[in-house]
Amino acid sequence: AKRAGRGCYRVLTTNLQKQAALRLQLEQKLRIGIEKQEFCLYYQPIISLTTGELAGFEALVRWQHPEDGIISPGLFIPIAEETGLIDQLGDWILNSAISQWKEWQQKFSCCLDLVLHINISAVQLSQYKFFADLEKMLIEKNVERSGLKLEITESCLISKQVKTSRLLDRAKKMGLQLCIDDFGTGYSCLSHLRELPLDSLKIDQSFVMNLEDKDHDATVVRAIIALAHNLGMEVVAEGIETFEQWQHLKLLGCEWGQGYLFAKPMTVQHAENAIQSLQQG
Ligand code: C2E
Ligand code: CA
Ligand code: CA
Ligand code: CA
Repeated sequence: AKRAGRGCYRVLTTNLQKQAALRLQLEQKLRIGIEKQEFCLYYQPIISLTTGELAGFEALVRWQHPEDGIISPGLFIPIAEETGLIDQLGDWILNSAISQWKEWQQKFSCCLDLVLHINISAVQLSQYKFFADLEKMLIEKNVERSGLKLEITESCLISKQVKTSRLLDRAKKMGLQLCIDDFGTGYSCLSHLRELPLDSLKIDQSFVMNLEDKDHDATVVRAIIALAHNLGMEVVAEGIETFEQWQHLKLLGCEWGQGYLFAKPMTVQHAENAIQSLQQG
């Protein structure tokens, strides 16, 4: 039995060692990837649930590794956060999204009525230079700010409550909008939520996914939408994949939505086509 036990232990360490080695390898690749700028942004349309029309986009980062192909942000963002590489990567994301937005504002007049959502990591936000750098970027690019919306995850808001509300106030003073992301997956203190200057709330896709099968989730989604509206926020639903989900969310009073039903995250070229058809139609 002792020998078997030792055997198990050995298997376990080998697995852990393998995992650690893989991770280290990915971290090193990420470092190089950031240096070589192997990233690009995809844009997923955000749709008005009442009209079905394009209302804006969410920028989502992609890593195009020369050998491994496209690597998902779900895989490398956590590593970037743990290693501090998110500072550089986050800067690149912001710069690239804001430059793109400026270009679109110049090319398409209807862009002034659209929104651009940019994901901000909690680690990035807590960097003391974050807002100063962002302000510099906005001034340099001379971009219309009202359509820019920072997405901050719910878990980020609960980490350091007092400090977060100060940071968010600063973003509002700069003329930016704020959206709480992945709502329902964390444990926010609802009274705290009331004190934050948030413009919109994004319902996590796990609720949207189960909207049709479980009465339970419909009740929760209804409650979340009521809460948001009572606090003066608009609601975005993510991960809409079926027509039924769209109709249900619309009925519940959810204003905006995104998901494969409407469009997957797309290249700049495809996003421009979508803006163009909005402008013409
Ligand atoms: P998220 O912010 O919650 O983004 C939504 C994710 O759901 C995206 O995955 C999107 O492609 C995917 N999605 C959109 N519609 C559907 C749908 O109908 N069904 C399903 N099953 N999925 C859908 P993605 O692009 O792989 O991003 C994963 C996560 O990585 C994001 O979750 C976000 O937390 C993080 N991330 C992505 N881009 C950035 C970024 O630029 N900065 C930061 N800090 N994080 C990012
Ligand atoms: Ca997001
Ligand atoms: Ca989300
Ligand atoms: Ca999510």
